[in-house]
Amino acid sequence: MTGPWIGGLTVRRTDHGQTPIADHLCTRCGHHTRVTGRQRVTDYIRSNPIADHRAACPALKKGTTA
Ligand SMILES: [Zn+2]
Repeated sequence: MTGPWIGGLTVRRTDHGQTPIADHLCTRCGHHTRVTGRQRVTDYIRSNPIADHRAACPALKKGTTA
């Protein structure tokens, strides 16, 4: 995946022999999580971090629009 990253969840380096990296960025509050390692990335994605963060995001809790 190339081009500007406007937030959300991305996974890079998923080729065989590489260590996958998952990044989750919330553009509303600036929260960033990085997970590395095939098993950890798999578990992290399976845990649905975007929905999880939406429930906890301080910016969303303030009721900020847009
Ligand atoms: Zn957030």
